[in-house]
Amino acid sequence: LASQSHLHHQTIVNVSEKVAFGGKELVIIGGPCTVESLEQMETVAQKLSAAPVQALRGGVYKPRTSPYAFQGMGEEGLEILARVRSHYNIPVVTEVMSISQIEAIATHADMLQVGSRNMQNFDLLKALGQAGKPILLKRGLAATIEEFVMAAEYILSHGNPNVVLCERGIRSFDDYTRNVLDLAAVAALKQITHLPVIVDPSHAVGKRELVAPVAKAAVACGADGLIIECHPEPEKSVSDARQALSLEDMVDLVDSLRLVAAAV
Ligand code: PEP
Ligand code: MN
Repeated sequence: LASQSHLHHQTIVNVSEKVAFGGKELVIIGGPCTVESLEQMETVAQKLSAAPVQALRGGVYKPRTSPYAFQGMGEEGLEILARVRSHYNIPVVTEVMSISQIEAIATHADMLQVGSRNMQNFDLLKALGQAGKPILLKRGLAATIEEFVMAAEYILSHGNPNVVLCERGIRSFDDYTRNVLDLAAVAALKQITHLPVIVDPSHAVGKRELVAPVAKAAVACGADGLIIECHPEPEKSVSDARQALSLEDMVDLVDSLRLVAAAV
């Protein structure tokens, strides 16, 4: 179902009346790694909706490496997302970690993210086939392109045609960057599937000063969109502080990304 030979067209995934992945327009999702407070999300939404960034991100259920690290605001965070979503009329994307969270997240968010750590959580993928909302599927930490496409296939074959693939870097021997961004995978996925493909430069590089150049390269090689972490006070982010852009840098980056998109 995911392969290009199955459908000879580009799938368009709508997340709201105005925002669609896979069309002519580059779609940029921005926001913090983690939802921390209503004030934080109001500040982010106000600044980014004017940029304009087309969708907001913010984790409320967080897959943290350490069980002692902050695990996210949970339902309270979902309510914060729901408030900024309606106040700024902007779609929101947030991560779903388990089947039991699907219903509540699908009520408040416009798109459900499957994180790298859950790319092969097959029961979750099957359940998301029935979620009734678009899915942002991130590539697994060490997943091959074939495994990535087959993970999408689980969601598609269980009834949900609205899947957006996200390349976010894979594990390799060099840890200078947090992961190694596989831009060739973006080009390959665009050729072998009909699904929209976006890039997460933030988790790929892990260092804020590397986010902008890598984001531009992603657009130049055909990505349909980007998901980028930013924060009103980047150094104070409760998670992924090292890779968070300031809101000002995010707005500047969005401007230059549109110029790159217009040129390709
Ligand atoms: C995230 O987007 O916040 C995240 C945890 O990303 P990944 O699953 O790619 O590590
Ligand atoms: Mn993060």
